[in-house]
Amino acid sequence: MIDETLTMIPGPTPVHPRILAALSRPTVSHVAPVFVESFRKALADFRGLCQSQAGQPFLVSGGGTLSMEIALVNLVAPGESVLVVSQGYFGDRFGDLATAFGIRADVLRSEWGRAVPPEEVAKRLESNAYAAVTVTHADTSTGTAAPVEAYAGLLRGRKELFLLDGVCATGGLDEPFDRWGVDVLLTAAQKAIGAPPGLALCLFSPRAMERRRARASVPAYYADVLRWLPIMEDPSRYFATPCVNEVVALAEALRMIHEEGLANRFARHARIGRAVRAGLTALGLEFVTAPDCRADTLSVVRYPAGVDDAAFRKEMASRRVVVAGSLGPLAGKAFRMGHMGNIGPGEVATALTAVEESLRALGARVEAGAAVAAASRHLS
Ligand code: PMP
Repeated sequence: MIDETLTMIPGPTPVHPRILAALSRPTVSHVAPVFVESFRKALADFRGLCQSQAGQPFLVSGGGTLSMEIALVNLVAPGESVLVVSQGYFGDRFGDLATAFGIRADVLRSEWGRAVPPEEVAKRLESNAYAAVTVTHADTSTGTAAPVEAYAGLLRGRKELFLLDGVCATGGLDEPFDRWGVDVLLTAAQKAIGAPPGLALCLFSPRAMERRRARASVPAYYADVLRWLPIMEDPSRYFATPCVNEVVALAEALRMIHEEGLANRFARHARIGRAVRAGLTALGLEFVTAPDCRADTLSVVRYPAGVDDAAFRKEMASRRVVVAGSLGPLAGKAFRMGHMGNIGPGEVATALTAVEESLRALGARVEAGAAVAAASRHLS
């Protein structure tokens, strides 16, 4: 990392040299056999990452917001209602998206830094009729991990479709699609999967596909999954040109995930999550997120009194580490550190050291070496 900047934001995440090498292979035709094979492998490996037998994968140029739109617009008709379980900025985005398509959104919001209790979801489900329920697994604005398994228990056997946003989770947090009864898991390439940005990924359950087929049309063209289905079944067919290099890079990222093994990968994220939290705590930083719902993919902490957001991030940048500022009500008051994808103890130590030195440079009283010492107890 001597001449490189370490990008520790909640996506895009650092891209492993193997994935960068795949990205830089010569651009070939989108119907060349070698590319068709990569596309097929990426689709199969994505379904494997979601631990699904029968889910239908879709891989489309775009990002997380497009995958949210694909999920919603294919399955909920204008005039129908959707329950939006929101733990922050990206949960709320589902409400905005719904409104843009004439879908009624009932937004059930938590306080920032807390999860929506499953009982509140249960109450709404009993008192209203919804076509679907949206849940954000890890909200990137607050670092909140939703109690998805408990929500899944409530939704089991019900008619509402379960749409899960895994943009800041898939590839780092366990998401057993079939076991949880998810209807659409939507995500993007650039976060815990560790590929460069540029791709929207969705997995549709057989029930979700049936629901889409039952609708004569949807208010979408590029985002209509039935236009993409023939390509997902046979990638040598054409609907719209895929971003060839990004698909090859994603296929490599997914190959690396399966080489590591899902259980090992989720355990690594849990270990790194604990280490980063211990390190930041040792610096006296206060978490925005309540202790029972801190995601293992990112941490969101408040600045100590007297430390300015822009000055802090400038100090960090001078140490070649980039963290993110905050959104909404936290803007200027907290910073966000991503710790997902293909990172390890070295990146954690570099990032924590930069935080410690930057705080000290701005006059905060922090003990030298405290963060890395606390983190390292969780890394072995
Ligand atoms: N959902 C979540 C949870 C996210 O973190 C993000 C991106 N930060 C999005 C959706 C939107 O993804 P994109 O920026 O790739 O459109």
